Amino acid sequence: MSRIRLLSEHLTNQIAAGEVVERPASVVKELLENSLDAHASRIFIQIEGNGTRLIRIRDNGEGMDSDDVLLSIERHATSKIQNEQQLNSITTLGFRGEALPSIGSVSNLIILSRLQGNATGTKADIRYGRLHKIHEDGCAQGTIIEIRNLFGNVPARRKFLKSTRTELYHIEEIVRNLALAHPNIEFQLQENQRTVLHMMPSDLEKRVREIFKYQKDLLPIKHLPEQADHIKLEGYLLLPDSHSSSRTNRLRTLVNGRPVVDNMVRKAVSEGLQGFIMKGQQPAGALLLTINPEQIDINVHPAKREIRFRNAQAVFHFFQQATSYTLSKYQDTVRDTLFTTQATPEASEINTNIPEPLPTKTIEEKPVPEQENLSDLPQLSKPPKQQYKKFIEPLLSNTVTEPEPGAPIQQSPAAGKTNDTTTGEMTLIGQLFNLYLLYEKNGQMIVIDQHAAHERIIYQQLLNGYLNNKMAGQNLMFPVSVELLPNQIDTIEKYPEELVSLGLTVQHFGDATWIIKSVPAIISHLKAEEILIEIINSLQGGQGRKTSGSVPKKIDAILSSMACKAAVKGGNKLETEEMSGLLSLMQESDFFSHCPHGRPVVKVIDKKDIEKWFHRL
Ligand code: ADP
Ligand code: MG
Repeated sequence: MSRIRLLSEHLTNQIAAGEVVERPASVVKELLENSLDAHASRIFIQIEGNGTRLIRIRDNGEGMDSDDVLLSIERHATSKIQNEQQLNSITTLGFRGEALPSIGSVSNLIILSRLQGNATGTKADIRYGRLHKIHEDGCAQGTIIEIRNLFGNVPARRKFLKSTRTELYHIEEIVRNLALAHPNIEFQLQENQRTVLHMMPSDLEKRVREIFKYQKDLLPIKHLPEQADHIKLEGYLLLPDSHSSSRTNRLRTLVNGRPVVDNMVRKAVSEGLQGFIMKGQQPAGALLLTINPEQIDINVHPAKREIRFRNAQAVFHFFQQATSYTLSKYQDTVRDTLFTTQATPEASEINTNIPEPLPTKTIEEKPVPEQENLSDLPQLSKPPKQQYKKFIEPLLSNTVTEPEPGAPIQQSPAAGKTNDTTTGEMTLIGQLFNLYLLYEKNGQMIVIDQHAAHERIIYQQLLNGYLNNKMAGQNLMFPVSVELLPNQIDTIEKYPEELVSLGLTVQHFGDATWIIKSVPAIISHLKAEEILIEIINSLQGGQGRKTSGSVPKKIDAILSSMACKAAVKGGNKLETEEMSGLLSLMQESDFFSHCPHGRPVVKVIDKKDIEKWFHRL
């Protein structure tokens, strides 16, 4: 007699429940997905206890007739797909036809549903997987699903649940994520008779603000490549210098309306935001990717938690490009806030909509002006040189690009302006703590961190130079000899190309002695030995030679530490011309809003806020 036998349906449902129904939040997720698939426009969720006492979801969707109610609790019964081809291009959230029977096998389940156009509804009562009663019943159009005693027959599962607060948090997260994916739908969540979320139909921006409880500037993302109609990204990122890193403020990614936890996406966004968010800070916001369903595989995990992209590489680049392009648009907006001369009441709104469609653009593609040469150091002030000897002189270089004759004067908007606040130009108030430049413009106070600003400008130039193989080395008139430690020598020998690419030339002299013959031109005013050690340290730090964007991480570290060293320091008193020189450089730079470490360069404080300090408002 064979020992192998077919399991009963009851048992297979319980086994499936083990995968699909991990905790109360999994039930909420499956039921919400069903309501959304049924095109509901209002969804009301009620939870009691930690969700094991009661989960009740009411929607105003299409509803079911009595036959469908019966079928819905059968395993592998679904209205969403019929054939293999449809499995490969899923447009609904559900498709496996196993949520209701699985949930029903580990709880007491009541389904009350009325199909659109029918006079009455159907009520089915299922107790731990067995149909107890089914009858006609009156109800509003749509569906109510009630789950009581979740895991009442699986005590082991119940034991694994965490505190009530944790379980409720997971439920809230499910609701928040799906609400983001469907901003036009009303969601209400009640926990133990208390309304914890209630979101009225709105648009994505408002939904993002509600979910993240965030009223400050958002960075809108909209990426719709012209040539590709099968992929589009939209969303909002929280500005990194103003979001707190609370549990809910994180990056939420939704692919075709489905929340996914995907490290690849997170990494792409982090790389796109490189130099914009601080070390250790996570990007936060909501990104909604719409992609041809044939390009993804959702049928990876029973709880549909994972997604596989058929072309993961392309999707990675897509996210990365979208974020870095958005950042470059953001620079334009900040530039407008600072430098546009029309006095507009909306000038304080950094958050403006980006025109669409946006062409794709990457750092590598960025055209570099012909004459650009790295010895053209971003200097704070344009000639005459002698005037700014102190610390800027070393930065002054041989070739200085003069503004073209006839170029608008506003290149140095602050220069010479003192009293005029009505023109919409920045009016210098002064330098604060020898570190911050204060300006007034259009009823706003603008604060600029002089070091961070200059550091970013130099960094951008170094970066462009590096990417275009134009990182000039400056030969030393008197080569410098240094004694190196064995590990330092190893590093030099390990990274010859990196040294060359930075314009650094070293030669072995004998024993531990090395000769430095040239240093990167841009920091040639620093001590050659110091530069070499700095570069060696950067090459030794970090892990591996992983590239971030198009610049190896180690090189990036070198570029930013060079920029830091070369930039005007905090504590340096600046002349008025130097301040306006810095402003001109910012205005001309493609990226100036944050220093290479992600610290903000500019802060804008509204007059209103200042008046609030003094209770004038
Ligand atoms: P799936 O969603 O994978 O199809 P489920 O077990 O979650 O499987 O649901 C089975 C079927 O029950 C669905 O295909 C759908 O036809 C129907 N159904 C479930 N919930 C609802 C609802 N809230 N409104 C209308 N129909 C529903
Ligand atoms: Mg379902």
